[in-house]
Amino acid sequence: MTETITESTVADNLRRIRADIETAAGEAGRDPRSITLVAVSKVQPIERVRAALAAGHRVFGENRVQEAKAKWPALKADYPGIELHLIGPLQTNKVKEAVALFDVIQTIDRMKLARMVSDEMHRAGRRLPCYLQVNTGEEPQKAGVSPRDVDAFLAACKAECDLTLVGLMCIPPVDQDPVPHFTLLADLARRNRVPVVSMGMSDDYPAAVRLGATHVRVGSALFGERKPG
Ligand SMILES: *Cc1c(COP(=O)(O)O)cnc(C)c1O
Repeated sequence: MTETITESTVADNLRRIRADIETAAGEAGRDPRSITLVAVSKVQPIERVRAALAAGHRVFGENRVQEAKAKWPALKADYPGIELHLIGPLQTNKVKEAVALFDVIQTIDRMKLARMVSDEMHRAGRRLPCYLQVNTGEEPQKAGVSPRDVDAFLAACKAECDLTLVGLMCIPPVDQDPVPHFTLLADLARRNRVPVVSMGMSDDYPAAVRLGATHVRVGSALFGERKPG
Protein backbone atom coordinates (compact mmCIF):
# COMPACT_ATOMS: atom_id res chain seq x y z
CA MET A 1 0.00 0.00 0.00
CA THR A 2 1.36 3.38 -0.87
CA GLU A 3 0.04 6.68 0.30
CA THR A 4 1.20 10.19 -0.26
CA ILE A 5 1.16 12.34 2.81
CA THR A 6 1.65 15.96 2.00
CA GLU A 7 1.93 18.97 4.25
CA SER A 8 -1.69 19.83 3.66
CA THR A 9 -2.74 16.27 4.53
CA VAL A 10 -1.09 16.62 7.93
CA ALA A 11 -2.73 20.03 8.45
CA ASP A 12 -6.12 18.59 7.40
CA ASN A 13 -5.70 15.59 9.69
CA LEU A 14 -4.78 17.91 12.53
CA ARG A 15 -7.95 19.94 12.00
CA ARG A 16 -10.09 16.82 11.78
CA ILE A 17 -8.62 15.28 14.95
CA ARG A 18 -9.04 18.54 16.87
CA ALA A 19 -12.67 18.70 15.68
CA ASP A 20 -13.23 15.08 16.79
CA ILE A 21 -11.80 15.92 20.21
CA GLU A 22 -14.08 18.92 20.44
CA THR A 23 -17.14 16.83 19.52
CA ALA A 24 -16.28 14.07 21.99
CA ALA A 25 -15.62 16.62 24.74
CA GLY A 26 -18.98 18.26 24.01
CA GLU A 27 -20.74 14.89 24.23
CA ALA A 28 -19.24 14.39 27.69
CA GLY A 29 -19.91 17.95 28.83
CA ARG A 30 -16.18 18.65 29.01
CA ASP A 31 -14.21 21.73 28.03
CA PRO A 32 -12.23 20.79 24.89
CA ARG A 33 -9.44 23.08 26.06
CA SER A 34 -8.82 20.67 28.93
CA ILE A 35 -7.65 18.04 26.42
CA THR A 36 -4.17 17.99 24.91
CA LEU A 37 -3.38 16.27 21.64
CA VAL A 38 0.03 14.62 21.85
CA ALA A 39 1.19 14.11 18.24
CA VAL A 40 3.13 10.85 18.17
CA SER A 41 5.95 11.43 15.70
CA LYS A 42 8.01 8.26 16.18
CA VAL A 43 9.42 6.81 12.95
CA GLN A 44 7.64 9.46 10.83
CA PRO A 45 9.52 11.29 8.07
CA ILE A 46 10.74 14.65 9.31
CA GLU A 47 8.71 16.58 6.67
CA ARG A 48 5.49 15.35 8.27
CA VAL A 49 6.67 16.48 11.68
CA ARG A 50 7.63 19.86 10.26
CA ALA A 51 4.20 20.11 8.62
CA ALA A 52 2.53 19.72 12.02
CA LEU A 53 4.88 22.34 13.48
CA ALA A 54 4.13 24.68 10.57
CA ALA A 55 0.42 24.19 11.26
CA GLY A 56 1.04 25.42 14.78
CA HIS A 57 1.12 22.17 16.72
CA ARG A 58 3.62 22.08 19.59
CA VAL A 59 3.01 18.95 21.71
CA PHE A 60 4.70 15.77 20.49
CA GLY A 61 5.38 12.26 21.75
CA GLU A 62 8.31 9.96 21.03
CA ASN A 63 8.85 6.49 22.38
CA ARG A 64 12.61 6.12 22.06
CA VAL A 65 15.22 8.34 23.68
CA GLN A 66 17.83 7.79 20.96
CA GLU A 67 15.45 8.58 18.12
CA ALA A 68 14.15 11.68 19.87
CA LYS A 69 17.68 12.87 20.55
CA ALA A 70 18.55 12.67 16.86
CA LYS A 71 15.50 14.68 15.83
CA TRP A 72 14.26 17.13 18.44
CA PRO A 73 17.15 19.39 19.53
CA ALA A 74 17.20 20.93 16.02
CA LEU A 75 13.39 21.22 15.85
CA LYS A 76 13.27 22.76 19.34
CA ALA A 77 15.77 25.37 18.17
CA ASP A 78 13.58 26.18 15.14
CA TYR A 79 10.20 26.26 16.87
CA PRO A 80 9.89 27.77 20.35
CA GLY A 81 7.38 26.34 22.81
CA ILE A 82 7.67 22.66 21.94
CA GLU A 83 6.57 20.23 24.65
CA LEU A 84 8.05 16.78 24.13
CA HIS A 85 6.59 13.73 25.89
CA LEU A 86 8.38 10.44 26.42
CA ILE A 87 5.71 7.76 25.87
CA GLY A 88 7.91 4.65 25.53
CA PRO A 89 9.81 2.54 28.07
CA LEU A 90 12.71 4.28 29.82
CA GLN A 91 15.84 2.33 30.68
CA THR A 92 17.81 3.47 33.70
CA ASN A 93 20.92 4.10 31.60
CA LYS A 94 18.97 6.66 29.52
CA VAL A 95 17.54 8.63 32.44
CA LYS A 96 20.05 11.45 32.20
CA GLU A 97 19.46 11.99 28.48
CA ALA A 98 15.69 11.71 28.90
CA VAL A 99 15.54 14.34 31.65
CA ALA A 100 17.67 16.69 29.54
CA LEU A 101 15.61 16.30 26.36
CA PHE A 102 11.98 15.63 27.29
CA ASP A 103 9.50 17.96 28.97
CA VAL A 104 7.16 15.26 30.28
CA ILE A 105 7.88 11.60 31.13
CA GLN A 106 4.72 9.49 30.83
CA THR A 107 6.25 6.08 31.47
CA ILE A 108 7.40 5.79 35.09
CA ASP A 109 6.68 2.12 35.85
CA ARG A 110 8.89 0.97 38.71
CA MET A 111 10.27 2.43 41.91
CA LYS A 112 13.91 2.19 40.90
CA LEU A 113 13.17 4.30 37.82
CA ALA A 114 11.12 6.81 39.83
CA ARG A 115 14.03 7.21 42.23
CA MET A 116 16.56 7.69 39.43
CA VAL A 117 14.41 10.19 37.57
CA SER A 118 13.80 12.13 40.78
CA ASP A 119 17.53 12.19 41.60
CA GLU A 120 18.44 13.29 38.08
CA MET A 121 15.84 16.07 38.08
CA HIS A 122 17.33 17.39 41.32
CA ARG A 123 20.85 17.15 39.93
CA ALA A 124 19.94 18.84 36.64
CA GLY A 125 17.64 21.43 38.22
CA ARG A 126 14.81 20.37 35.90
CA ARG A 127 11.41 19.44 37.34
CA LEU A 128 9.43 17.54 34.71
CA PRO A 129 5.84 16.42 35.14
CA CYS A 130 5.90 12.61 35.31
CA TYR A 131 3.08 10.08 34.88
CA LEU A 132 2.70 6.50 36.08
CA GLN A 133 2.17 3.88 33.39
CA VAL A 134 -0.55 1.44 34.39
CA ASN A 135 -0.78 -2.02 32.83
CA THR A 136 -4.59 -2.06 32.82
CA GLY A 137 -4.72 -5.36 30.93
CA GLU A 138 -2.10 -6.96 33.22
CA GLU A 139 -0.25 -8.16 30.13
CA PRO A 140 2.99 -9.89 31.12
CA GLN A 141 4.96 -8.44 28.18
CA LYS A 142 3.79 -4.88 28.76
CA ALA A 143 5.31 -2.24 31.02
CA GLY A 144 3.37 -0.55 33.78
CA VAL A 145 2.24 -1.25 37.32
CA SER A 146 -0.76 -3.44 38.00
CA PRO A 147 -3.98 -1.49 38.67
CA ARG A 148 -4.14 -2.91 42.19
CA ASP A 149 -0.68 -1.49 42.99
CA VAL A 150 -1.37 2.04 41.78
CA ASP A 151 -2.50 3.60 45.09
CA ALA A 152 0.51 2.22 46.99
CA PHE A 153 2.94 3.14 44.23
CA LEU A 154 1.78 6.76 44.12
CA ALA A 155 2.07 7.07 47.90
CA ALA A 156 5.49 5.43 48.04
CA CYS A 157 6.75 7.58 45.22
CA LYS A 158 5.81 10.78 46.97
CA ALA A 159 7.22 9.62 50.30
CA GLU A 160 10.39 7.87 49.21
CA CYS A 161 11.61 9.81 46.23
CA ASP A 162 10.08 13.25 46.35
CA LEU A 163 8.37 12.65 43.00
CA THR A 164 4.71 13.59 42.68
CA LEU A 165 3.26 11.72 39.74
CA VAL A 166 0.71 14.06 38.19
CA GLY A 167 -0.73 11.64 35.64
CA LEU A 168 -1.66 8.07 34.81
CA MET A 169 -1.21 6.57 31.35
CA CYS A 170 -2.23 3.27 29.79
CA ILE A 171 -1.95 1.34 26.56
CA PRO A 172 -4.88 -1.11 26.46
CA PRO A 173 -4.38 -4.60 24.97
CA VAL A 174 -4.55 -4.35 21.16
CA ASP A 175 -7.17 -7.05 20.78
CA GLN A 176 -9.67 -5.78 23.34
CA ASP A 177 -12.37 -3.16 23.65
CA PRO A 178 -10.48 -0.21 25.17
CA VAL A 179 -13.53 1.16 27.03
CA PRO A 180 -13.15 -0.89 30.24
CA HIS A 181 -9.46 0.05 30.31
CA PHE A 182 -10.19 3.76 29.88
CA THR A 183 -12.85 3.56 32.57
CA LEU A 184 -10.47 1.82 34.96
CA LEU A 185 -7.67 4.34 34.39
CA ALA A 186 -10.01 7.31 34.86
CA ASP A 187 -11.34 5.75 38.10
CA LEU A 188 -7.82 5.19 39.42
CA ALA A 189 -6.95 8.81 38.66
CA ARG A 190 -10.10 10.15 40.30
CA ARG A 191 -9.63 8.04 43.41
CA ASN A 192 -6.04 9.20 43.82
CA ARG A 193 -6.73 12.83 42.85
CA VAL A 194 -4.31 12.57 39.94
CA PRO A 195 -5.24 15.33 37.49
CA VAL A 196 -3.78 14.01 34.23
CA VAL A 197 -5.11 10.96 32.35
CA SER A 198 -3.19 9.92 29.20
CA MET A 199 -5.16 7.43 27.11
CA GLY A 200 -6.53 7.02 23.61
CA MET A 201 -4.68 6.52 20.32
CA SER A 202 -5.57 6.78 16.63
CA ASP A 203 -8.34 4.17 16.71
CA ASP A 204 -10.05 5.20 19.92
CA TYR A 205 -9.23 8.76 21.02
CA PRO A 206 -12.87 9.99 20.89
CA ALA A 207 -13.92 7.24 23.33
CA ALA A 208 -10.96 8.13 25.57
CA VAL A 209 -12.02 11.79 25.59
CA ARG A 210 -15.60 10.85 26.49
CA LEU A 211 -14.24 8.80 29.41
CA GLY A 212 -12.01 11.52 30.81
CA ALA A 213 -8.67 11.60 28.95
CA THR A 214 -6.79 14.86 29.42
CA HIS A 215 -4.11 13.73 26.94
CA VAL A 216 -4.64 11.62 23.82
CA ARG A 217 -1.63 10.22 21.96
CA VAL A 218 -2.29 10.10 18.23
CA GLY A 219 0.23 8.98 15.62
CA SER A 220 -0.92 7.30 12.41
CA ALA A 221 -4.27 9.13 12.17
CA LEU A 222 -2.30 12.37 12.05
CA PHE A 223 0.89 11.52 10.17
CA GLY A 224 -0.12 8.42 8.18
CA GLU A 225 0.94 4.84 8.68
CA ARG A 226 4.39 4.32 10.10
CA LYS A 227 6.90 2.47 7.92
CA PRO A 228 7.43 -0.99 9.42
CA GLY A 229 10.82 -1.75 10.98
C1 LIG B 1 2.89 4.67 18.88
C2 LIG B 1 2.16 5.03 20.11
C3 LIG B 1 0.98 5.79 20.05
C4 LIG B 1 0.32 6.23 18.76
O1 LIG B 1 -0.25 5.14 18.12
P1 LIG B 1 -1.24 5.37 16.84
O2 LIG B 1 -2.06 4.15 16.83
O3 LIG B 1 -0.35 5.51 15.66
O4 LIG B 1 -2.02 6.59 17.11
C5 LIG B 1 0.39 6.14 21.26
N1 LIG B 1 0.93 5.78 22.44
C6 LIG B 1 2.05 5.05 22.54
C7 LIG B 1 2.59 4.68 23.87
C8 LIG B 1 2.71 4.65 21.38
O5 LIG B 1 3.83 3.93 21.47
